[in-house]
Amino acid sequence: MSFRTRLTLFFMLIVVVPMVALGVAVSRLVTDSEEGKANARAGAHVTSAMRIFERSAERAALSARALGGDRALTAAIRDGDRAAATRRARALAAQKGLERVVITTPGRATPFVDVGDPDALAAGSARVRGNGSNDQLATVQASTLGAEAFVQLVASPDVEVIVRRGDRILASSLPPAGRAGATGTARATGTAGATTGATPLPERGTTTIGDVDYVVAGFRADDFDGAQDAISVLTDSSSTATAVARNRRLALGLLGAFLVLAFVGAILVSRQLQGQIGRFLSAAKRIGGGDFSTAVPTEGRDEFAQLGDEFNKMSHELERRIGELDRERGRLRASIQRVGETFASNLDRRALLEIGTETIAEAVEATAGRAGAGTDEVRVGEIEPFGAVLDAAERRARATNAPAEHSDGDLHALASPIPRAREDAGPLGYVVVARAGRPFGDEEHALLGSLAAQTGISLENVDLHDQVARQAVTDELTGLFNHRRFQEVMTAEVLTAQRFGQPVGLLLLDIDNFKRVNDTYGHQQGDVVLREVARVLRESSREIDEPARYGGEEMAVALPQTDLEGAFTIAERVRTAVEALAVARLDGEGLLQVTVSIGVAASATAEKDELVAAADAALYTAKRSGKNRTVRAPAATVASVEAE
Ligand code: GH3
Ligand code: MG
Ligand code: MG
Repeated sequence: MSFRTRLTLFFMLIVVVPMVALGVAVSRLVTDSEEGKANARAGAHVTSAMRIFERSAERAALSARALGGDRALTAAIRDGDRAAATRRARALAAQKGLERVVITTPGRATPFVDVGDPDALAAGSARVRGNGSNDQLATVQASTLGAEAFVQLVASPDVEVIVRRGDRILASSLPPAGRAGATGTARATGTAGATTGATPLPERGTTTIGDVDYVVAGFRADDFDGAQDAISVLTDSSSTATAVARNRRLALGLLGAFLVLAFVGAILVSRQLQGQIGRFLSAAKRIGGGDFSTAVPTEGRDEFAQLGDEFNKMSHELERRIGELDRERGRLRASIQRVGETFASNLDRRALLEIGTETIAEAVEATAGRAGAGTDEVRVGEIEPFGAVLDAAERRARATNAPAEHSDGDLHALASPIPRAREDAGPLGYVVVARAGRPFGDEEHALLGSLAAQTGISLENVDLHDQVARQAVTDELTGLFNHRRFQEVMTAEVLTAQRFGQPVGLLLLDIDNFKRVNDTYGHQQGDVVLREVARVLRESSREIDEPARYGGEEMAVALPQTDLEGAFTIAERVRTAVEALAVARLDGEGLLQVTVSIGVAASATAEKDELVAAADAALYTAKRSGKNRTVRAPAATVASVEAE
């Protein structure tokens, strides 16, 4: 269900339903009020009719008393002369304008005299006494009001009157047609009263005669001869119905207008709410899509504005966090790149130290730093402004052998030893970084410590690698290349020589009577001699030459781009240098001297083995011909440059 539908339902619930209920109630009230008014009007008409009736009865009573005092009439009654009494009564009635006169005597059922209109109403009575005595002679009843006259007096355009005596209608203001029509069509409500012929007319209530609605009210009054008159006053209530309809229309119109107004208001409010929510929704979608550039518009201080503010704050915070993440990712990328560079640096100790220092500086957000390990020293960033604090921090780290910080005003430096894996061995070196504005925190101390330890491990790995690599190709005793390395070098040099047509020379050396040194001074002394001869060989060699220990007390030098004479010259330099060497005796009893024999060969075309064999043969010749000499391999044994 959409937000709008829900709002509409809510509106129906809180506005439409109560308004409809109110409409019904108001309509009821209007009806009741108008009916009340109609009833009051009907009541007033009845009261006025009653008053007319009662006044007439009072007047009639006065007339009756006057008749009772008339001598001629009382004489005629006393004499029982009915004819005379009747004559006199008729004369008096005419004289006084009476409608009817009835004289009854005690003990007689029928009236003694009855003159005038039998339908006259509102009888007033008086007693007729005998002469001076208290006995009652007769009762006189008189009326001044005819039924038709009464009807004329009371009726008005919207008031009808019906006077009945028993079942008989004495007079009615209703037209005869209406009276007849009422017979069949009257729809009457209220308490049952007398009927007009077949028409049931309620004593009180409402009835419809013809097309006209009436409120019926009335009264009863005793009349001549104990008869009873029923006077019904019918008040036309069509004006009430009109008023009810008019007022109801007015009330409903007002309600309708209110409903329309409320509905329009609700639509406007719902539109506005929807607009706001729509703006939030589209802002949320934009943020979801990664666009933080536009904020939700907020006006005023209502809940929506507050929500919008919070929304904008949230978006801002998200943007900031994402920016932070991006930077973090950038740093990570840089770190990964550096790790890659570390691999690419081919485990170069200095490059590694530099990468370690850069990583540390970045991790603790320092702007400059330097590190030293052994002979390697590196710098990152602008370290000049920090010289003094860097030195102070490093001094402190050296003293405590732990991360240490030093600050000078706005400048802060943090130093740490670069530890070895074996803690008792002392640190490999020190790293120190610096920045301005903000001292380093505990977390940064810890980070520096751990990164320095990792840098130490990396450096040690590099050192170890270098050492293993060196050991793989080096003779431990003499520091010369070993036999395996010599073979590799020779293979490569021979190939190069063959490719470029340039000669490669080879020098093979053997210490003379070395067994005797061992035998006379011991193996340790022999080792010293071996090392000294190796040193001389190394020092006599050119940069491009690679001296090696061939085996035992034999040594060899591959001589790139060297012909036989060149090789001979170098060999002689070595031989004379050894000859001049004086090795200190381990027993401290003076010096001892040794000599060497050397065989040389050179070729641009020979295979390695041929070259080695030729040099070996020359060495053999040197031994045979007295030792301490250099012998060239004969040209015939190898295809030498000179031979060509
Ligand atoms: P020549 O002049 O004929 O070469 O006589 P030589 O005594 O040198 O004879 P040979 O080559 O047979 O002797 C080599 C000796 O070198 C045998 C061995 O004990 C000794 N030797 C080989 N390697 C080492 C070493 O690493 N240290 C020591 N101290 N002696 C070694
Ligand atoms: Mg030997
Ligand atoms: Mg020897």
